[in-house]
Amino acid sequence: MYRLILPFVIFSFISCAAQPKVSAQAVSVGEQVAGGPKLVVGIVVDQMRYDYLTKFYSRFGDGGFKRLVEDGFTCENAQYNYIPTYTAVGHTSIYTGTTPQSHGIIGNNWYDKYAKKYIYCVDDGDYKSVGAADGGRKSPERMVTTTVTDELKMFQNQRGKVIGVSIKDRSAILPAGHSADGAYWFQGADEGKFITSSYYMDELPEWVNEFNNSGRAQKYLDTPWNTLYDINTYTATIVDDNPYEGVFKGKESPTFPYDLKKLKKDNGNFNLLKTVPAGNTIVKDFAEAAIIGEQLGQSSSLVDFLAVSFSSTDYVGHKFGVDSKEIEDTYLRLDRDLAEFFTFLDEKVGKGAYTVFLTADHAAVQVPAYLESLKVPAGYLDNKAFKTALNTFLNSTFGSEELIENISNNQLFLDKTKLKEANLNVHVVSQAIVDEVINYEGVYKAVTAKTLQEANFTTGILALLQEGYNQKRSGDVMIINDPSVISYAKTGSTHGSGYSYDTHVPILFYGNGIKKGRTSRYIPIIDIAPTISNLLGISFANGTTGNVIEEVFVD
Ligand code: ZN
Ligand code: ZN
Repeated sequence: MYRLILPFVIFSFISCAAQPKVSAQAVSVGEQVAGGPKLVVGIVVDQMRYDYLTKFYSRFGDGGFKRLVEDGFTCENAQYNYIPTYTAVGHTSIYTGTTPQSHGIIGNNWYDKYAKKYIYCVDDGDYKSVGAADGGRKSPERMVTTTVTDELKMFQNQRGKVIGVSIKDRSAILPAGHSADGAYWFQGADEGKFITSSYYMDELPEWVNEFNNSGRAQKYLDTPWNTLYDINTYTATIVDDNPYEGVFKGKESPTFPYDLKKLKKDNGNFNLLKTVPAGNTIVKDFAEAAIIGEQLGQSSSLVDFLAVSFSSTDYVGHKFGVDSKEIEDTYLRLDRDLAEFFTFLDEKVGKGAYTVFLTADHAAVQVPAYLESLKVPAGYLDNKAFKTALNTFLNSTFGSEELIENISNNQLFLDKTKLKEANLNVHVVSQAIVDEVINYEGVYKAVTAKTLQEANFTTGILALLQEGYNQKRSGDVMIINDPSVISYAKTGSTHGSGYSYDTHVPILFYGNGIKKGRTSRYIPIIDIAPTISNLLGISFANGTTGNVIEEVFVD
């Protein structure tokens, strides 16, 4: 079995000439590649903070997170190195090995200044929904650089399969790249099915239809959500009934148990499944069905790639907050799902025949109202009041209240037509806005696009902002809030900032080619893709700005 051995020899020769340090590593990886992974499984846990790993560790079983930590390699100081820390941006950066500055995914939604409309990252009207009437008109076409998964497809001359799976469309589509064999996501509401886009195929494969017809989504909602263990033993989180949590419609308090069958109708029908741990379980089930249905990891000469993203952790965090019993239980249940998934991989692909990485697309802030109760600086920024105050200022200074076209993702887009009509210079108005909003409560920094184009920030929060700034797509003024100041409901957690509560995530590697170990060295999220490329001996994603994490490989 000489998987990818020939191309790898070429690769290591080239890297020998260019970077002696990497080549020493690469040669040993080359030996590994000969008996290398048949399947790479990329796992993203949506909104997983690094400290969930340590906080809940003693309650985890042996086969899930602990298996990855104890038999694999842990990066304890992995950080997002850009702003904003949102889902689409995170998944794209993990798989492209670069930041929004290059890959172009600057938010989940953003204001498209050319089309003059607010767009969603993977919406694409050129394609049809497959498997349900709605929800499938999607593609990865706004992502402008390649992914590690694209490169694997091209390296193997379009042989070897790449499949993306998630509850969220964007979390299945962006990791799987441009040339994926399929990406599937969960259409909730009245459907309760996994669907796709005609970007990939004209009809769902038989194994997906079978899965959808199994009644699994309904089965999970027929089961009440209670804590996995006695709730009195959940000591890592605050009391179950607290004022910092959202409440499901039709329920009096944010407390266990949750009768999902009863709550279903008032909470978006099958959408309810997204906001409970069973949403992760059904993704795990679907990932297993994909491995069987697509025969992933069964080739003797090709490498397949399965990109799995667990999104329910994010929905639960948004609803109940970082410190809730609901979050604690969600992670204990995810740990069990992961253990089952790894046992399944052992059986179907073979122990030692696959490589896993697990990370998160961002972390999350503790509920600011809760932090305030602890006397920790935190708060809320009212977007509407912000805009009103700014427009009043612009009216008194430049004689117009219509200069701002859009405010989103902490960016301001100026109306270039209105500026021209009023004979105003964009740089003058942008700088005046910066000098004004810095006086507003909750604003920590404001900078113009011009500053980001002309200066080169290498450290600190402005360096993160610069990495997230895309000259083609971003706004005219960028704003950074004070720590733990968010524009959000008073209940639940969110994310998006460059502060460590949003940027610090786990990166775990495990399996074929990976040694046991840990590092507390700073590792930016963009290092994952080149590390996997190096392991496989394939080309780097074309916009890569990350580096190979050398220490994860077996010597
Ligand atoms: Zn997310
Ligand atoms: Zn989120």
